[in-house]
Amino acid sequence: MNDCIFCKIINKDIPASIIYEDQEFLVFEDIKPIDKVHLLIIPKIHIESLIACNETNQEMLGKMLLLGGKLANQLGLKGYRTMINSGAEGGQEVFHIHFHVYGGSDTLVKI
Ligand code: AMP
Ligand code: ZN
Repeated sequence: MNDCIFCKIINKDIPASIIYEDQEFLVFEDIKPIDKVHLLIIPKIHIESLIACNETNQEMLGKMLLLGGKLANQLGLKGYRTMINSGAEGGQEVFHIHFHVYGGSDTLVKI
């Protein structure tokens, strides 16, 4: 039994604000957005983290990056930020790899 919350969202066992779906990816709004627009892009296969990735995941990772940019453009963001937290020490809380894409606020706090 897979207890992963993002797998449950993929399987529609728990709701999410889904904004895009194809065979390989699901995109939904972060439940605690840190910007006006805050998307999470996840592959439909369960991979824990970027730490668990290798060359076999290269195509998936490339597609995920490009999908983030495409959706940000479609949502009208002129610029945006992207983030992948990897491992507990990298701030990762949900252990199904996900790509944060966020932006839209008028003021940018540089980090
Ligand atoms: P991370 O710290 O990179 O693992 O980020 C996990 C993100 O998932 C956080 O920004 C949470 O707000 C978000 N999150 C957790 N549960 C849900 C959920 N059920 N629906 C949407 N976003 C979620
Ligand atoms: Zn999962």
